[in-house]
Amino acid sequence: MQLKATRDGDGWRLNGQKTWTTSAHFAEWYWVGARTDPEAPKHHGITLFLVPMDHPGITVNPIWTMGDERTNEVYLDDVWVSDDYVVGEVNRGFQYISEALDLERFTMFTFSPIGQRFDLLCEYVATAERDGRPLREDPVVRRRIARLATEAEVARVMGLRFVAEASRGGAAPTAEASEYKLYATEFSKRLADASMDIAGPGSQLRVRTEDAPMAGRAESTYRYTVIDTIGGGTSEIQRNIIARRKLGLPKSF
Ligand SMILES: Cc1cc2nc3c(=O)[nH]c(=O)nc-3n(C[C@H](O)[C@H](O)[C@H](O)COP(=O)(O)OP(=O)(O)OC[C@H]3O[C@@H](n4cnc5c(N)ncnc54)[C@H](O)[C@@H]3O)c2cc1C
Repeated sequence: MQLKATRDGDGWRLNGQKTWTTSAHFAEWYWVGARTDPEAPKHHGITLFLVPMDHPGITVNPIWTMGDERTNEVYLDDVWVSDDYVVGEVNRGFQYISEALDLERFTMFTFSPIGQRFDLLCEYVATAERDGRPLREDPVVRRRIARLATEAEVARVMGLRFVAEASRGGAAPTAEASEYKLYATEFSKRLADASMDIAGPGSQLRVRTEDAPMAGRAESTYRYTVIDTIGGGTSEIQRNIIARRKLGLPKSF
């Protein structure tokens, strides 16, 4: 993190850039971390600020993703905020960001839309034909659907387990959040791959194209599910968290 905040009077002056801020083009407020102590070790010396998005020094540029979603790069040029806009304590921002990420790793990737896509695939398999034979009679398709059904159930139960742990109060369950995020988003990608394979070449037709299998959802989710394994922390980062926090393995980087 290279966005800097330097002390100025009764507040802070922010200068730099934050790439990937997905809702910046319609948000009113910006939760943003900035480096307040460049001498401190990497995860210390970061402070969290709340910045009004209509501040004149803020520029928002779009970045369009392969999944059609817009995200943004945001430039902050001499943006001054008073001490009232510091969230929590100075130099403890990374701790707050980590806690928020624990919750985001579940709330941003909840199971229900994934489950709906699995139901859509099942409906397609139940009714579609290939070369004059019902897909539901194809042993390869049946095996794949059965495996996906099992994996969908695992993802659903992991989600419920996270909710149960988080409802106990206290700190958010870090390892369980990473386990859920890793499993659910990787499963979501496998489901998208399977939908493309099972529906064949027609699955490349886009939403609103006549005759597109699964109303084109297979094609669009094939593109956007890739992003889910990056946003909120990549799968590699989730594996690192599980290895260290849950399994007690040493740091590997
Ligand atoms: C479409 C999109 C929207 C986003 N929206 C937001 C947003 O609204 N707000 C926000 O704050 N962020 C947002 N992000 C940022 C997102 O959280 C980061 O891109 C993500 O956490 C990866 O970090 P990075 O880009 O710095 O990649 P890097 O950390 O540079 O990672 C690059 C590669 O190296 C691997 N890697 C890195 N460190 C390790 C390690 N220790 N061990 C093993 N492998 C490692 C990663 O897995 C990855 O494959 C968004 C990203 C995308 C793509």
